[in-house]
Amino acid sequence: MDFNNGVQKNVASLIIQKMNRTNIYQLLRREAAGLTKQDIVQRLGLSLPTITNNLSELREEGLVTENGVATHTGGRRAKTWSFTRDARAAIGLDITGGYVIAAAIDLAGNVVNHTRMDIEFQMNSAYYQKLGELVRTVIKSAGLDDKHILGVGIGVPGLVTGDMETVFYGEILKFTGASREEFSQYIPFRTALFNDASAAGLGEFWIRNNIGNMFYISLSNNVGGALMIENKIIYGANYHAAEIGHLTLHPGGELCYCGQRGCAETYLAASTLTRACGGSLADFFKLLEQGAKDALAAWNIYLDNLALAVNNVQELFDCTVILGGYITEYINPHLPELKRRAGALNSFEHGNAAYIDICRYKTLSIAAGAALYYICEFTNNV
Ligand SMILES: [Zn+2]
Repeated sequence: MDFNNGVQKNVASLIIQKMNRTNIYQLLRREAAGLTKQDIVQRLGLSLPTITNNLSELREEGLVTENGVATHTGGRRAKTWSFTRDARAAIGLDITGGYVIAAAIDLAGNVVNHTRMDIEFQMNSAYYQKLGELVRTVIKSAGLDDKHILGVGIGVPGLVTGDMETVFYGEILKFTGASREEFSQYIPFRTALFNDASAAGLGEFWIRNNIGNMFYISLSNNVGGALMIENKIIYGANYHAAEIGHLTLHPGGELCYCGQRGCAETYLAASTLTRACGGSLADFFKLLEQGAKDALAAWNIYLDNLALAVNNVQELFDCTVILGGYITEYINPHLPELKRRAGALNSFEHGNAAYIDICRYKTLSIAAGAALYYICEFTNNV
């Protein structure tokens, strides 16, 4: 019994030591301006020797830096400590039918480099080789060292199994059954597959530290979503929770690629707008700005449908709704009108749509989110 108690005590003290180290690191990560040891004592309630030991250890590992001199505090000047944001990095890929975006993200979640390659999606060795080259290019352009790369997150427009190994529903690119192994043939780092909207949602959740509950809607060539409840992403029993693209907006309406009719996908995908003008999304918004009749009519219908979808989400979850995807690059001037229309549908707080917010990573949201998976994993386990 005594022996067991001893072992338990040792295990408990190891867990506490690890927690202290992680807490110190996390605190420095949140306080970009840096903190003195005394600040850390006050904020975490730990002893000065514990903090000194952990800071020395973290500095030896290159994870924190001792710098400068703090402003006068009670007549004493003290060195400040800050976390080293470029100590590690992760890469994210955003795979689409016509191009791939690659982004390198540092430990603070900043995009340190990104690049785009126009290439038609194919499931063959030549394509996978190009993915490998793209990863190389972004690492090189960002001036990163291979040994500091935590992993490569691969965002795909399909539903992915819980082990992040296989696409189990890939109607958009007709790639159901594609595996992580195939995508990673020429990528010499740890890899994982992500549903594109889940990755983007993860990124937006991450930069809004501890937001609690949130719904992310991705409005790009396809429509997807991600749901976070009490700071945890909800994937659902079969990994297709929050698939707002297939919420029925208009029963018996337009035919969707999923085989059903009236799905949000058919009314809110960027292609509904580009079809109306026969050009790119930028062309569409230019026409809209010029007051072109067809563009105005298409946008009017689009805004009504978006207000309907957003309000349905809010009625269900009563939480912040983040709009992401390519459309959000152009949506700012139209946000007041969207809020007016969504507010008019609000059952409990008529006129209120303050819960709507816009994503921060914009066109890089999928690549950044896929990379952030590895950043999170690392910073949570320092
Ligand atoms: Zn559908």
